[in-house]
Amino acid sequence: MWIGVLHHVTGEHVWALDACQHGPLADEREKEWIPKGSVAHDALSDIVLNGRWLKQVHKYLRFRSTSELESFHNHLLMYASKRNSFTFPVYEARIFLAALDYNSHCSRQPRRRPDGSIQYKKQFNKKSRKWSLYAVKEKKDYSYIEDIQRAIVKKRVSSGHGMPRLSSKRADDPRKYGLLPDVPAPTTEELLNTQVSRVHGHALPQK
Ligand SMILES: [Zn+2]
Repeated sequence: MWIGVLHHVTGEHVWALDACQHGPLADEREKEWIPKGSVAHDALSDIVLNGRWLKQVHKYLRFRSTSELESFHNHLLMYASKRNSFTFPVYEARIFLAALDYNSHCSRQPRRRPDGSIQYKKQFNKKSRKWSLYAVKEKKDYSYIEDIQRAIVKKRVSSGHGMPRLSSKRADDPRKYGLLPDVPAPTTEELLNTQVSRVHGHALPQK
């Protein structure tokens, strides 16, 4: 069905080995089909037939739960809350710290009671309005922090030069692109002449 997309987009719905699984198509179609052999069709073929994707697609077909991704996002928010704004280097450093924490704690074992039984906790899901159990994991030990501190000090001491007085921006710092709009700002004069006040329906007052 997936590879059939390459036939379908050209307007060919029955071909040598297979056919589309949709019903009859409406005749009054305005959108053009993609010609076979066109640049667009070649580009689409590269995506649809991408070997790496085809190998992994089975995993994604059965991947229906986003709970692990959600818990990963919640984990990032502990380090980089949306309530605060951070400069790029600070945000990046916080995300790195979150990743280090995540990676060194993601394979923790479930916490066990002295008798060896696994500890569960109840959790209420607001969306499904159901209670479920999840296994409590062992406490985080953050043992990697000391390793990092040691590495930082070692690198600092053996660097052979002091700390730079001013921090210089790295080449990949996105702040060099300035604010987001890629439309150059017109002059205030131009805007005054063209912009109509949304409230009153006429030009903005100039005096
Ligand atoms: Zn079709």
